[in-house]
Amino acid sequence: MRPGGSFDVLVIGSGASGLAAAVSAERAGARVGLATKTTLQACNSAKAQGGIQAAFGEDDSPEIHAEDVLRSSHETADPALVRTLTSEAPSAIHWLEELGVEFTRSNGGYRLARCGGATRQRLLQVGDRTGHAITKALRQTFEAEPGVELPHHALTELRPAENGWTATFDVKDEQVQIDAGAVVLAAGGRCFAEAETRGELSTNHPNATGEVTRIALEAGAESCDLDALQYHPNGGAWPTTMQGYSIPETTRAYGAVLLNADGEEFTDSLGPRDAVSQAIFDEVERGKGVLTPDGRPGVWLDTTRISAEDAGISLPYMLRRYRGAGIDPLSEPIYTYPVLHYQNGGLVIDEHASTTLEGVYACGEIAGGTHGRNRMMGNSLLECTVFGRRAGRAAAERARA
Ligand SMILES: Cc1cc2nc3c(=O)[nH]c(=O)nc-3n(C[C@H](O)[C@H](O)[C@H](O)COP(=O)(O)OP(=O)(O)OC[C@H]3O[C@@H](n4cnc5c(N)ncnc54)[C@H](O)[C@@H]3O)c2cc1C
Repeated sequence: MRPGGSFDVLVIGSGASGLAAAVSAERAGARVGLATKTTLQACNSAKAQGGIQAAFGEDDSPEIHAEDVLRSSHETADPALVRTLTSEAPSAIHWLEELGVEFTRSNGGYRLARCGGATRQRLLQVGDRTGHAITKALRQTFEAEPGVELPHHALTELRPAENGWTATFDVKDEQVQIDAGAVVLAAGGRCFAEAETRGELSTNHPNATGEVTRIALEAGAESCDLDALQYHPNGGAWPTTMQGYSIPETTRAYGAVLLNADGEEFTDSLGPRDAVSQAIFDEVERGKGVLTPDGRPGVWLDTTRISAEDAGISLPYMLRRYRGAGIDPLSEPIYTYPVLHYQNGGLVIDEHASTTLEGVYACGEIAGGTHGRNRMMGNSLLECTVFGRRAGRAAAERARA
């Protein structure tokens, strides 16, 4: 076992939540180490396309946003965490802008779309590469500051120590121990591993394997709703190169609808995710689905109803991917079927992102409660930013105490 030094705050994971925590902890005066399993760029956050929610519309408010979250969760979300999420959303967006994220604008304001389960237009976007833009800005901010990057450090154990915690990592073919006054767990969910076990497709990055949740549970942390996994209603089903691709939900926000084999609309295409996914499963079950050329089940997503202008502004990456694969979604409908996408539950946290273990914080997909058992799209990048900032600040304060 090789000693790997010590930090005030050790952040595990370099997605949006870990980067937000690392930047915030550093700005709060802490010496920060940012450890991640492979490269700093490797994460689910960078794959997020659709956008990030915040109540900026004239007919909207953080309270209405909170009502939408609670209703979509079927009242299973933690109201205190939801209030924190939605009330801090506008300031989180401004913080991201200060770090260099340029949200798409139209008519003098943000271009806002209505996403599944929402009663207002509230989804900000950076084209359809929102997660890429957010992680890039956060990463560049962290890289410009004195914090230490620890790539290819895979956490394997977390133990209490005299002045905080000792973390053990696999680093190439040796084990390294790092001490920290406080630890922020930001290692994401487990849907890649879960899909492999079930023999299904997933939208997730291969690093989404969930072992850090298990490590935290072994150290004594509490969890909630860990069994509640979310299907993205619109996984790509054909061609093969698009299988498991998450077709942005903004396709439906900009007019695409779900159709069965007879060309009938069988559900509210802008319903909450669980309802839309279930409607697709049911439609296929009752023999009204379609089969892809390689025999997979699916239904149609009629993307021909999206205007070329909206698609050009808000779906350029999706168009490029499909057209590159020989299908033009503006001229023909595309095959779709739900795919494993998101871990709704996770480690129990409070409003300061503190887990039930003293000195251990959690933010992003690894944490539970904020979405209850069913997350709305666009609230995960928001959760990463709001609770990542909070985790970083609280961990820095804790390490100083
Ligand atoms: C294709 C796709 C599209 C999406 N679209 C949207 C969207 O439009 N809007 C939205 O709000 N949300 C969206 N989501 C969900 C959202 O992007 C993620 O839930 C969120 O970004 C997760 O961020 P995170 O920081 O918690 O975890 P991640 O971004 O997954 O980062 C986890 C980090 O932890 C590291 N890690 C894992 N295990 C270990 C270990 N043992 N040791 C050290 N490091 C480890 C990983 O390598 C990675 O760097 C999308 C997700 C996907 C997959």
